[in-house]
Amino acid sequence: MSGSALYDTYARNPLAFERGEGVWLIAEDGERYLDFAAGIAVNSLGHAHPHLVAALVGQAGKLWHVSNLYEIPGQSRLGERLVENSFADKAFFTNSGAEALECAIKTARRYHYAKGAEERVRIITFEGAFHGRTMATIAAGGQKKYLEGFGPKMEGFDQVPFGDLKAVEEAVTPETAAVLVEPIQGEGGIRVLSSSVLRRLRELCDKHGLLLVLDEVQSGVGRTGKLFAHEWSGITPDIAAIAKGIGGGFPMGACLATEEAASGMVPGVHGTTFGGNPLAMAVGNAVLDILLEEDFFEAVARKGLQLKQGLMALADRYPDVVEEIRGEGLMLGIRCKVPNTDLQKAMREEKILGAPAGENVVRLLPPLIVSEEEISNALERLESAMRAVSPGTDGADGEEKGS
Ligand SMILES: *Cc1c(COP(=O)(O)O)cnc(C)c1O
Repeated sequence: MSGSALYDTYARNPLAFERGEGVWLIAEDGERYLDFAAGIAVNSLGHAHPHLVAALVGQAGKLWHVSNLYEIPGQSRLGERLVENSFADKAFFTNSGAEALECAIKTARRYHYAKGAEERVRIITFEGAFHGRTMATIAAGGQKKYLEGFGPKMEGFDQVPFGDLKAVEEAVTPETAAVLVEPIQGEGGIRVLSSSVLRRLRELCDKHGLLLVLDEVQSGVGRTGKLFAHEWSGITPDIAAIAKGIGGGFPMGACLATEEAASGMVPGVHGTTFGGNPLAMAVGNAVLDILLEEDFFEAVARKGLQLKQGLMALADRYPDVVEEIRGEGLMLGIRCKVPNTDLQKAMREEKILGAPAGENVVRLLPPLIVSEEEISNALERLESAMRAVSPGTDGADGEEKGS
């Protein structure tokens, strides 16, 4: 017995929070933490946002759940709003990111099936990808550490190096159905796919009759300063998965598709009990109310630049701690020279939270409502944390190193 009633699948920090206010999390002992992880890009509008609380409480007194056998007006409305503001014509609501990806994968395969090309089932994905923890999405992500011990890897995914267009071209066969990619890899370490590569991927998909499927579970919903990260490149996908930020902390996701791409998804072929229920839809609509306010995205882009410039200045001052600053908008990564776990720990001591990622990166994903003052405050805390882990200063200013 490990002493806990819970599965031991998480390496948890010995820290519990009691409540949140905006960008702040308040621990059980009353300590206030600046939350620059936001539940890993989930709490897009911070904690306990009054508009979201009102939407949830208001809906809770009326109706929690009805089956998708009935009309759900909040679902139709959220679908229409997402469609109006994106490339998509159709939406399917889920409870999580992985389920949104499952729907995306099924939609892509069904598209070819409905066109009479049932052999086209294979999907090209990229090394370092993360698409979730279901059997299909661990196969899509292709990471050994998530596949090992879980039996046969689901067939149908061909992986190539991140952003390698030549490798994509070579991987295309008559059985290929789609290319699936994150515009910015999140778990993989805030690795940005350049706009030019995304545009060429689009061309390559068109040339071979493949669907372009984007995983915007982390990069979407305003995170980069546009509703979707792919908007920066000027291209549109055929299918996109979103989740995380759209619920602002309420579990939900969606698969978005063009009418053409969704043409195989006819009555009865897919479904969910909880996806798109009235509670989730009330919150999702409330999140969009705020996101779609005039100048909201411009403010995200501006604040992202402020944070990035501040981080670049820190990178100059602590070259033995920081290898590189990367990312877009409020989806930024500090690639470390020291172990990222050391920087994370020092940050926790300075009462600022980030999230670890691949390639020895610490991710900063603050709520999109973060203020300029809070970013300045965060940069001061980050500087103290960097000073504490800097091998050069060896815990200068009498600050204890690590401990
Ligand atoms: C978090 C994440 C997922 C999986 O979402 P869950 O809600 O955990 O299932 C998929 N893709 C990306 C890019 C993610 O960041």
